[in-house]
Amino acid sequence: MSPPALEHHSDDHISVRGEPFRVYIDRDRLARRVEALGEQISQDYEGLRPILIGVLNGAYIFLADLMRAIRIDCEVDFMKLSSYGAEQISSGTVRSLKEIDADIEGRHVIIVEDIVDTGLSMQYILDALSHEQPASMQVATMLHKAAATKVDLELRYVGFEIDNLFVVGYGLDYGQVGRNLKDIFILDRE
Ligand code: 5GP
Repeated sequence: MSPPALEHHSDDHISVRGEPFRVYIDRDRLARRVEALGEQISQDYEGLRPILIGVLNGAYIFLADLMRAIRIDCEVDFMKLSSYGAEQISSGTVRSLKEIDADIEGRHVIIVEDIVDTGLSMQYILDALSHEQPASMQVATMLHKAAATKVDLELRYVGFEIDNLFVVGYGLDYGQVGRNLKDIFILDRE
């Protein structure tokens, strides 16, 4: 019989799809960092009514917390790209599965992502949205695997720079498992 998709061994050690993970960034650190990013965005965009564009599915929990940490007027919309499926390695091919509904011409856009890994998804998004002529466009990503990023990107708001290992939790999944974990866990192959 196959093991359960999600197993808790202790408060900080779990298995996802049979692979071991340990707590890497706990919920308190996440909350403090999201508050700080929200404050920074509130200062930078005062009077500009930014529109946050969340990248589904992974960014929705970060986006929900980030938006509530922003104290100025702002809007939200969503887009969706093809994902890795149940793989841990980026396939490098990006496809759009859902486009935004909002008209962003002349608007101040903040793209909200869960993680920038190779950077190919973000490059695709920036390229696609720039054709709609926003007044400005910046990126807010909860996590950045700098050692894995292959393209030159300006990432204005970064929650945490992390090691080049697979992570789950706080919206990030492994084959649709683990999104609901409150902490971010990292693959633990020790
Ligand atoms: P990139 O195009 O930058 O290589 O990949 C971006 C997307 O890959 C992210 O939005 C996320 O869905 C997925 N991804 C990249 N690294 C990880 C990771 O460590 N864990 C999870 N769960 N997804 C990842």
